[in-house]
Amino acid sequence: MNGRHANGEDEDEQCPLITSGNDTDSGTLIMQHSHDNLWMLSHTGYKRLIEVRRTGIDPTYLDSRLAVIERFGMATVMHESDTEALSLAGFIQPVAPGTDDDAVRQKYQRNPLENVSRINYEITTRCNFTCMHCRNGGTAELTDTNIAGLTETGRVFLNLGIRRFDFIGGEVSKYGNGWLKLSNQLHAIDKGSDWPEPLAVTLYTNGWWLEHTDIQAAGNHYPTEADYLADLKSNGVTHILFSIDGQEALHDKWRKHPGLFQRVLAGLPRVIESGLKPRLSLVVRPDEDISLNYLKPFADAIYGVSVDSMDKLRSDPFNHFSHLIDVGRASDMRCGKVPLTHLPANLIRCKAFFRPAPTLRIMANGEIGICPLMHGEEGYGNIHRRPLVDLLNTMHETPLYRLHASGEIEYRLKELDREAFGKRFDHVCAVRIALNRLALAEKGMYVGSIAKSYHAQATSAEKLFDDISR
Ligand code: SF4
Repeated sequence: MNGRHANGEDEDEQCPLITSGNDTDSGTLIMQHSHDNLWMLSHTGYKRLIEVRRTGIDPTYLDSRLAVIERFGMATVMHESDTEALSLAGFIQPVAPGTDDDAVRQKYQRNPLENVSRINYEITTRCNFTCMHCRNGGTAELTDTNIAGLTETGRVFLNLGIRRFDFIGGEVSKYGNGWLKLSNQLHAIDKGSDWPEPLAVTLYTNGWWLEHTDIQAAGNHYPTEADYLADLKSNGVTHILFSIDGQEALHDKWRKHPGLFQRVLAGLPRVIESGLKPRLSLVVRPDEDISLNYLKPFADAIYGVSVDSMDKLRSDPFNHFSHLIDVGRASDMRCGKVPLTHLPANLIRCKAFFRPAPTLRIMANGEIGICPLMHGEEGYGNIHRRPLVDLLNTMHETPLYRLHASGEIEYRLKELDREAFGKRFDHVCAVRIALNRLALAEKGMYVGSIAKSYHAQATSAEKLFDDISR
């Protein structure tokens, strides 16, 4: 039997499972017949290898060891120092007895980290606004102040080639004490690395501090807005994403802050002046004109006045577009457009839960998450209880991953309490979240009240639907 590459093609080298252990040395590696002392790449090891190849950076000595193991699927690492260094980095793991070559290849091909390219640091769930549509509505207020612990997670992600870190909140700029230190540390750790893409650190904000003086922001005091912007810049922030929810009247109404839309627009040149890049985090409603032409003044301010500034805004990955989804406080806005009985079960399964792209989240309570609509005990593990590398390397064993990877979630639709949730919904993700919580609660992993998490009551949803259809 010949060995195979991860893409399934045969290759000339003999399979390590049938090569005898004596001196078929491939540098420092010996391939052998039994499973004793056999190692394979972990998810993080394989991710590192993918990114080294994708970016074309010079592989380190250990990267070359990873490449050899990947080539043969599994291998015995001969030099003790290699084994030690690779397993210390979490890049290799022992092969479980009974694991065959196909299982190893399949694991490489299904690496949950493969498409992850951004990390969201939530830092805090606290916010100084109570926006009408906030998906975080009802979330417990907490802030992660363990900046040293978060810095270590940053070290792991940087080593895996992650180049973008988003600080999202809550309102991090107001309550995320220590977040700027973390931003600073990410750059310090990254210094001297040869990843070709520059490191990006973004701040998502509602813009409360624009035009303010005596700004109290995340534990610091700034006499002026310019001082605040200068400090963001000096701590390595590269982009500021301002939330915009729709046209002026709607934005200011949903945010409950008259004049905010214009303050954000007027503030963009000052952000540019400070050396930072302003961008937008946009909520797009289902009934909205998808041209989003009301954003043209923002596009002109950000990219310069031109006929194609809106194209630039739409195609720039640093602008964030998200749908209005009827969860959290937005569930009170539910119109109930779709009856639950019309929802095909196969739409419930969401690939993001087992092939996250592009974002992984570290929530304020230390939980690793994927879906921005899920809070609290999401089911991928907690960085305050286990090392991040362990969590990343066992993601495929976790409840939420399995729930969606196996398709089990589809069979849970019939378990939804239709009195509490309502018989209609607007966006399929609202149903997905409800079913996830139901499944996690069964496993003792969702700590909130399921019925409360649905938020909207059947009666109000149906009344709204009736009102709209009249
Ligand atoms: S459930 Fe919806 S919002 Fe959550 S990860 Fe899947 S697609 Fe995204």
